[in-house]
Amino acid sequence: MPLTLTSLGCASALPTKDNYFTAHVLNIRGRSFLLDCGEGTQLSLRQLGISLGAIDHVFITHLHADHVFGMLGMISSMHLLKRKDPLYVHAPRGLEKLIAFYFDFSGKQDPSFPIIHEVVEGREVFPVMDCDEAAVMAFPLSHGVPTYGYLFREKPVRRSEPRSVAYCTDTAPFPELAGWIKGVDLLFHEATYLEKDLESAIKFKHCTARQAAQTALQAGAGKLLLGHFSSRYKETPAYLAEAKEIFPNTELSTEGRTFSVPRRLIST
Ligand SMILES: [Zn+2]
Ligand SMILES: [Zn+2]
Repeated sequence: MPLTLTSLGCASALPTKDNYFTAHVLNIRGRSFLLDCGEGTQLSLRQLGISLGAIDHVFITHLHADHVFGMLGMISSMHLLKRKDPLYVHAPRGLEKLIAFYFDFSGKQDPSFPIIHEVVEGREVFPVMDCDEAAVMAFPLSHGVPTYGYLFREKPVRRSEPRSVAYCTDTAPFPELAGWIKGVDLLFHEATYLEKDLESAIKFKHCTARQAAQTALQAGAGKLLLGHFSSRYKETPAYLAEAKEIFPNTELSTEGRTFSVPRRLIST
């Protein structure tokens, strides 16, 4: 009964020679969910041996380039691979226009498979999807454009406590967030800046590593993964050191790493 989160990238607005844009694959009991899809996401999937055919739900946090520009390439490849199964795209309003624009002006035929756009829009915590493996909720983040985080709650399994994963990027810190993801087992949270550049974090509505760690602490998270790192820093260990002062069980969500949420048996 595995539950894993695999990092496809950990860069923010500018990629570096080592880091692709932030995107992840969440695998819950064999079912894969793609979280964000910046440019290069399909290359990361290939490098990690994750089949495009395994992806049937994509969850987009917001429509900034570093989170969506991989969608057209991925859809194009799925078409070339003669995909037939529908692709469900959960995203704030507007992504459907970007995808339709491409098909209108590229001279290409419509894709070989249906694309089902599910507009994510709402206040506080609201449901966006339900399947055998998990219930998925969304909640608004604070980033200047409509941006949503996602909370995946595993469906109960016999003798095990259901596990949960939250995905929060991009966002400035705000007080309600910790309550919305209270007790989450694994929290992915953006940490674009270090505390020495707090002014930039405030200006561009992002977080520092320290602020992400404070949210994890307030939420009582089991583990914190940091990502969405600014290209201005040459070394990422500084993020880890800053966050660990507040929240010791922190790791960096760098390319190719997979994090497991262990199963917890209910004692009888
Ligand atoms: Zn971003
Ligand atoms: Zn953004």
